[in-house]
Amino acid sequence: MLLASQSSESYTKLDPIEQLHNLFEVSQKIVFFTGAGISTESGIADFRSPGGIWSKIKPIEYSDFLEHEDIRLEDWRRRFHFQKEFDAATPNFGHVFIADVLNSGRGLAVITQNIDGLHQRAGVPDNQIVEIHGNGTKATCLECQSPMSLLQAKELIASSEKAPRCQRCNGLVKAAVISFGQPMPQNKVSAAKQWAEACDLFVVLGSSLVVQPAASIPVIAQRQGAKLVILNREPTHLDAGADLVLHAPIGETLKRVQTFSGYGMH
Ligand SMILES: [Zn+2]
Repeated sequence: MLLASQSSESYTKLDPIEQLHNLFEVSQKIVFFTGAGISTESGIADFRSPGGIWSKIKPIEYSDFLEHEDIRLEDWRRRFHFQKEFDAATPNFGHVFIADVLNSGRGLAVITQNIDGLHQRAGVPDNQIVEIHGNGTKATCLECQSPMSLLQAKELIASSEKAPRCQRCNGLVKAAVISFGQPMPQNKVSAAKQWAEACDLFVVLGSSLVVQPAASIPVIAQRQGAKLVILNREPTHLDAGADLVLHAPIGETLKRVQTFSGYGMH
């Protein structure tokens, strides 16, 4: 069942799917913001949720990764475990819808908290995505930022039984995700804020908007006049001020928006 509420009186008589469709129709500079909820529809576990893996296994702190070889090896073991899950998953209708809107020229970018690379696999170009928590399908040197594939990291660990070091500068190599206790990269946060400032429609999909900067980026978009849509199974602290709120599954809802008049089919 679809639950919806709206704060804007001009929409009160319309069905929420029609409201969402109309917002997509009139907007030219759409920015999406996605969280774990879009990836769970591809079968990827929300590891931060209650019952998720981090409620069973202690997360690895960034400082411990830097200091302890055994913890680095444990971090890599977990990384390869997640990689298997990401490889087995495929982008779902929500991912494809976003990619279609961005490729149609009516969307600016997708800002995501997800690290699974599914937006790119659905066809989002690299210059239209900001991964604020990084990307778990890649690794980089912490010193010189040289990339290393996860496959190469795996081979180096298998042959040396040591955590991989950069082939260029011998620095520590780490999966390109933001670990607990690791500072958020300011260039990514700035990029996310710039997209939020430039959009006319900001669409949150599958994020509870609890952690920063997720909690504040939609507010930046609203402050400069963008409409705010929140499509998430659970309520968020920004629901009351949003133009349209839908507590519903993402793929199913966007499918209904698309069939409403073929929106997003380009
Ligand atoms: Zn290096």
